[in-house]
Amino acid sequence: MKLRLLLFGLSTAALLTNCARRPTKLKIYDVVINHVTVVDVESGQLRPNQVVTVSRGKIVEIEPADQDSYAAKQYVNGNGRYLIPGLWDMHVHFRGGDSLIAANKKSLTLFLAHGITTVRDAGGDLTPSVFRWRQEMDAGLYAGPRIFTSGPKIDGPGAYWPGSLEVETPAQISKALDSLQRLRVDYVKIYDSRISGAAYLETIRQAQRRGLKTTGHMPYSVTLGEAVKRGLDATEHLYYVFKACSGKEDSLTALVRNSLGTSKPLGLFAVLPAVYDTYSPAAAARIFKLMAKHHTAAVPTLYIQKTLAELPENDHAQDTLRAYIDPKIQATYARRLASARQLSPAASAFGQKLNTKFMSLVPQMQAAGVMLLAGSDSGPFNSFIYPGASLQEELIMLVQAGLTPLQALQAATISGAKFMGVASRTGTIAPGKYADLVLLTGNPLEDIANIKKIDAVISRGKAYPAASLANLMRAVRNR
Ligand SMILES: [Zn+2]
Repeated sequence: MKLRLLLFGLSTAALLTNCARRPTKLKIYDVVINHVTVVDVESGQLRPNQVVTVSRGKIVEIEPADQDSYAAKQYVNGNGRYLIPGLWDMHVHFRGGDSLIAANKKSLTLFLAHGITTVRDAGGDLTPSVFRWRQEMDAGLYAGPRIFTSGPKIDGPGAYWPGSLEVETPAQISKALDSLQRLRVDYVKIYDSRISGAAYLETIRQAQRRGLKTTGHMPYSVTLGEAVKRGLDATEHLYYVFKACSGKEDSLTALVRNSLGTSKPLGLFAVLPAVYDTYSPAAAARIFKLMAKHHTAAVPTLYIQKTLAELPENDHAQDTLRAYIDPKIQATYARRLASARQLSPAASAFGQKLNTKFMSLVPQMQAAGVMLLAGSDSGPFNSFIYPGASLQEELIMLVQAGLTPLQALQAATISGAKFMGVASRTGTIAPGKYADLVLLTGNPLEDIANIKKIDAVISRGKAYPAASLANLMRAVRNR
């Protein structure tokens, strides 16, 4: 009993307690979280008063806490607290050119401090840095989330984002995929600023043949159904799902396709009002069913949608998190701010209407069995979408849209792991899985906003109590 009291006293300190209670060998764990309520994100069950032991980066045991004592290098008091798997942000960006490498790197700290222990990088121009950070964090040089990355995006000739691989012919697509495989990327991200419909579908086909996952935006000259049938693994944002919910999808797609050779090519935003006006519940049900059947996931990114739509009336001057966003990254916000200012009141109002509609798709997709993935789209150029905090806001919005808190949590834990094909290793709290965990002072199943009440983050088997997280944050604060 004495030992337990001693260990309690050390609950927030990373001290080595080499006390042996028994004469026989006593296991010394790296981390022990005692008397905690474990949240099972698969079943939604709460398991109160558990002890979770961690060694060598993995969860060792989860047992009912008894009077037994546990020796640990780091002891975490879980009394009155809730343990969830570390969160996944399934859509982030590291980008902006070499002068922004150090600024981007700071976001790793912000993710971790907000309970995000894994991110999926959805393409950028800092691929060598992303791989280096990943290696250095894996080696324990510094703290931060695990990273899955697409490397550079695939797009058409004259692509919008620097660093994209520009493809048009099947041979160019093959070469681009060769280069991505040489980089050993985790999946392929396709962007649609310039890619042709034919090259888009061919990229999915070739990637599929190589066993590479594909996700992306989509040219409005093809239908989502075509992409889903080719094997697209996830559709990013809801613009493309939404187009497929139009009762006139085929004729609108043909309209876009026929305009491409003319002096007035139509893009996504030109036809969105028509898509909106022709929304059909039957078409929506059809595409959701098809997505579920082909296991095509959706990444709704509701929070960025809302934040950008509200840019004209919200200047974010008082955001406390701005102090942690490098001035060089804040400078990249200017581009979206300028385009927001150019919006007519009518366009602005349409943006708001569209968001409401997008939100209504979320529970429908969930009910149809479409896998939903929580992603923030945080990164340079995406104004005021702060790394870490924006994923928390995304979860809150998924619940506002109609998901249960459990379903929202799944979209940011087990579903991310399943999507990346690593669910046997991570994504839930179970023996043998990565010790990537978040300790909360409130029950997230009662109120999803409780994911903001972080008492500790356990990442790669190391515990970071709130005070340590605050210290890490201080290190990236702007001077
Ligand atoms: Zn993005």
